[in-house]
Amino acid sequence: MRFKNITVAGSGVLGSQIAYQTAFKGFEVSVYDINDDALNTAKERILKLKENYKADLNATDEDVDSAFERMSFNSDLSKAVEKADLVIEAIPEVVNIKTDFYEKLGKVAPEKTIFATNSSTLLPSQFAKATGRPKKFLALHFANEIWKNNTAEVMKHPGTDESVFTDVIEFAKAIGMVALPLHKEQPGYILNSLLVPFLDAAQTLLAREIADVETIDKTWMIGTGAPLGPFAILDVVGITTAYNIVAAKAQATGNPEAQKVADLMKREYIDQGKLGRATGEGFYKYPNPSFAQPDFLKG
Ligand code: NAD
Repeated sequence: MRFKNITVAGSGVLGSQIAYQTAFKGFEVSVYDINDDALNTAKERILKLKENYKADLNATDEDVDSAFERMSFNSDLSKAVEKADLVIEAIPEVVNIKTDFYEKLGKVAPEKTIFATNSSTLLPSQFAKATGRPKKFLALHFANEIWKNNTAEVMKHPGTDESVFTDVIEFAKAIGMVALPLHKEQPGYILNSLLVPFLDAAQTLLAREIADVETIDKTWMIGTGAPLGPFAILDVVGITTAYNIVAAKAQATGNPEAQKVADLMKREYIDQGKLGRATGEGFYKYPNPSFAQPDFLKG
């Protein structure tokens, strides 16, 4: 592996996880955020992550402590990136904030440094010019709870160098991820390109009153052998996120059917406090949802 020093910019939910996972796998990690308050919050998040690594991965106290010792924290961007082979950006999902950041980063980072964005919904080509080094820029997209959900979607934009793509794929593997290469830009990467239309189709069947939640899930589970149906998945994603996606679609397209789905989600679920698995109820009631009962698939 060619990379030794990694900088993670933005130490919020995903940034602190990416930084800690990278340090856990033996890299020197420099964490950058806008001020000391944000960096202190990151340190608190990482203390909690240590417990997750012990509980979920059987990591020892020594493992989790030595990972932390490989991390440094800095609110001065030039210092935070002075040794970086790779900068992974996980700052807010706001175009102007990211553009400003890349303009500054491009000026202070060493010439060799590769930049990767963890953006979920914005495409790397939107920022390629601002980086000042489009050949050394691409997307590296992780999932929440990275230590368990270990996918890394690695996506080129039209100007990314092939060798940069290959090096970042290698790096993703080196930090324990299953690297998933995307050779062209695709909004939503692979996972959401599959998942969003699938969940949308299920919600449309419900809003059209074609069938109820359990019948739709049962059909999918029996028909494909999948362990969860679309509504059980929506409960994991969270109803608020699903609502935001369909409401944005309704607004952007003026599609009355999307609006009908959005209205149903709001009226029957969000307004009733049924926000999904995390709140104990969504389309199903937890901890013992009906789809997990032994007779669910029998009749
Ligand atoms: P977050 O709000 O939890 O964290 C953002 C961090 O960026 C904060 O610590 C904030 O202080 C810092 N920040 C703000 N402005 C900055 C700047 N100019 N320079 C440096 N740091 C700055 O956000 P998040 O959920 O971690 O998301 C970050 C990125 O990761 C987004 O692009 C998002 O699409 C992506 N992502 C998020 C998830 C998720 O489940 N949360 C999953 C995959 C990808």
